[in-house]
Amino acid sequence: MTSSSVWPARLHEAAAWRRAEGLWRERRTLQAGLIDFAGNDYLGLKGDPRLAESQAAAAREYGSGTGASHLVTGHLEVHETLERRLAELVGRPRALLFSTGYMANLGTLQALCDSHTLVFQDRLNHASLIDGAGLAGARSRRFHHRDHDDLERLLCRAPPETPKLVVSDGVFSMDGDVADVAALAAVSARHGAWLMIDDAHGVGVLGARGDGCVGRAHGHESVPILVGTLGKALGTAGAFVAGSEALILHLMQFARAYVYTTAQPPGVAGASLAALDILAAEPERRDRLRRNISYFRHEAALMDLPLTDSFTPIQPLILGAGARVMQWAARLREAGLLVGAIRPPSVPRGEDRLRITLSASHSTTQLDVLLDALSRMQRKLTA
Ligand SMILES: *Cc1c(COP(=O)(O)O)cnc(C)c1O
Repeated sequence: MTSSSVWPARLHEAAAWRRAEGLWRERRTLQAGLIDFAGNDYLGLKGDPRLAESQAAAAREYGSGTGASHLVTGHLEVHETLERRLAELVGRPRALLFSTGYMANLGTLQALCDSHTLVFQDRLNHASLIDGAGLAGARSRRFHHRDHDDLERLLCRAPPETPKLVVSDGVFSMDGDVADVAALAAVSARHGAWLMIDDAHGVGVLGARGDGCVGRAHGHESVPILVGTLGKALGTAGAFVAGSEALILHLMQFARAYVYTTAQPPGVAGASLAALDILAAEPERRDRLRRNISYFRHEAALMDLPLTDSFTPIQPLILGAGARVMQWAARLREAGLLVGAIRPPSVPRGEDRLRITLSASHSTTQLDVLLDALSRMQRKLTA
């Protein structure tokens, strides 16, 4: 006789719990025709034909896949060039490609930390940073969001000989506000801690050359570990860690998410190179994005929408707990607009929000459609 498995009941119970909380997540196939205010394609590069052309050309030259990890036979000239260009963009000696940002964070934290390491994380850090410290078996301390006094207090309590790592998002993915990198670097330095910034939403968007909120403004002496991703503003996929030669060599040896995975398809690397060319050649995309952000915020303020003080393309409208965000998002969809409805556990309880993201590719007319729809919903709810 076989004993009955506990697994079906466990799955059922977990699903029932999530539904009861009103937090069941569903995915939807992206419908053509909707105006996208939910993605992270801040510069409008993901549909650019020049990226597609480079992708095809690299696939023709090197093949559609790599067939092996970077340390076996998967590392190609196109990856080498891309790493060099990325290091140059952010003003670091070297960069190392990872398949995704999630893996870059897991691999880096696992390679640097162990159970003797203390990791200090902003409360609102991305899930991959929290998970990476967990995977490493490191103890994490969370400091209040962007509160450097709180961070300092926690650092003071740590034994001086303990290896310490301070970790923060650059641009916070659900809030759009930006870490005070200079302050984090100063506090970290005072306590002999290394600083790691995940600039997934800053690279391509912020900085004088689209080098992000760290980039060339803060060198690798003050921010030794910089993570950037290619799937957001750069319109492709993958990620990189940038820093000193010693850091990159260490990651190549010890980051399991680097060592034990197939290298990025050459087409993706080729498309990323095209994205970097466009980033350098067309600064007007960043100007256009900045104008769209100012316009949206100006008009939304006139309508008394609950804006936060984000000056990045991530413009959350925090609506509070309950089904309201789902209802707003559904109405907006009926009006032809795709907007993210973000609920716990992606954000703290009670801070459910519409996550509106702006892009250089949005026209003023499209922004007006969004503002009109928001204004109609606002009136209905306050009527
Ligand atoms: C999106 C994101 C990641 C993950 O990057 P992927 O390439 O999508 O895996 C990591 N960190 C932050 C802050 C992000 O927003």
